[in-house]
Amino acid sequence: MAGEIKTAETFVEKPKTLAALQEEIASGSVKASDLASSYYDRIAAVNPHLNIYLSLTKDRAMAQAERVDAMAVKGDPLPPLAGVPVGIKDVLVMKGAPATAGSRILEGYHPPYDATAVARLEAAGAVLLGKLNCDEFAMGSSNENSGYGPVRNPVDPERVPGGSSGGSAAAVAANMAVATLGTDTGGSIRQPASFCGVVGVLPTYGRVSRYGLIAFASSLDRVGPFAGNVRDAAALLSVIAGRDEKDATSSPAPVPDFATQSDKPAEGLRIGVPGEYFAEGLDPEVRAAIEKGIDALKAAGCAVKRVSLPHTKYAIPTYYLVATAEASANLARFDGVRYGYRSKASETLGSMYRHSRDEAFGAEVKRRILLGTYALSAGYYDAYYGKAQQVRRLLAEEFLRAFADVDAIVTPTSPVPAFKLGEKTGDPLSMYLADIYTVTASLAGICGVSVPCGNTSAGLPVGMQVLAAHFNEGTAFRVARAIEAAQL
Ligand code: GLN
Repeated sequence: MAGEIKTAETFVEKPKTLAALQEEIASGSVKASDLASSYYDRIAAVNPHLNIYLSLTKDRAMAQAERVDAMAVKGDPLPPLAGVPVGIKDVLVMKGAPATAGSRILEGYHPPYDATAVARLEAAGAVLLGKLNCDEFAMGSSNENSGYGPVRNPVDPERVPGGSSGGSAAAVAANMAVATLGTDTGGSIRQPASFCGVVGVLPTYGRVSRYGLIAFASSLDRVGPFAGNVRDAAALLSVIAGRDEKDATSSPAPVPDFATQSDKPAEGLRIGVPGEYFAEGLDPEVRAAIEKGIDALKAAGCAVKRVSLPHTKYAIPTYYLVATAEASANLARFDGVRYGYRSKASETLGSMYRHSRDEAFGAEVKRRILLGTYALSAGYYDAYYGKAQQVRRLLAEEFLRAFADVDAIVTPTSPVPAFKLGEKTGDPLSMYLADIYTVTASLAGICGVSVPCGNTSAGLPVGMQVLAAHFNEGTAFRVARAIEAAQL
């Protein structure tokens, strides 16, 4: 019963590993349908406290679980995620299920198709439990911009889970799914993973199809997994990655078995530590935790050296120009005609557009549409959007130069641990500035992982960000495994 949960600690629960679940389901000691039911029970008990799921897809989940059970009974070979309960960020569409993107403007919209990443999870045997809360159109760093109320952090419900994929991170931290999908445009997988103490993966741009993703900033948006441990996150990435004819930006690069790649020890890898990520504004306890992580990498046989990424200081304005410009174009389609919400206060077509958008978009989304429209407008385009694209190129080149000398770069994922609900809502600029360590990799298109790296004295999780060059996810996973093994 919902009301019975009283202490914060009871919300944190580690999901079983994929290996343990595979074993149980294949041997018949656990039925996929019973497992799915037990997850729905947990969701019913915990969701009223944390507001993680926006909608459940129970019929579809139970039908899939029964298919898996039938295969197990027959002794058929089981697919890699057979019976694994997963949750989906509500910016990815599932046929017939509500898709809100955390926005009131999409209320009542039921898309007629599945996102490719979602379809691939299900084809691999996963049981899709439902849709997860997030910041409106994935714009935010705290989940407080959701049109359906904030998600609370399972570690401390007075604190934010991070954003925009807060529901996806919190669901894994609270064992309301074994793994989840999120999206990352400027940090939205890595930062909530770090705030909730779970693993989150930023795949290389193009690695995972964006088909069926409700777009925020198309040149930056990526779909990626969350899990309770690095190996399982790696396994999920192998399932969802790879060329998709429905997304022209998806890469034909072959998809390795990332879980097996992650098994290779990190010994001998060259690790870069950029001074620019350990400067002013970094919480001393976060710094101390990351320094311990770096020591653990040395102990694991990695060669650690300083690298320099001097354009880092331009990354926030560059990101908030590119992202808002693309958002202003992408969000033009929500006009009250084709999807979801339509204002009743409309006499003409023009006033219907205006009222629908005014009534249903939240304040942050409106702020970004205004900023982005301004940055793209005639007379300002060269000074803002054009200049941002040039700086973006410099940031990407700087990373490539660094990766000529090192195999991976490690940094804090966020300068601060999870903050209190309401603490930053009055100051959007301070919220933007806290994205400083994540937006750089987003602009450069490279890949990374956020892996738990100890806690603050108050018990708040700290995440280490491990970055690697394009299509080098396997290397990032190896380094993350070494951090995980150190049990900091
Ligand atoms: N916090 C960043 C923003 O608000 C990143 C969001 C994201 O990655 N979707 O834009």
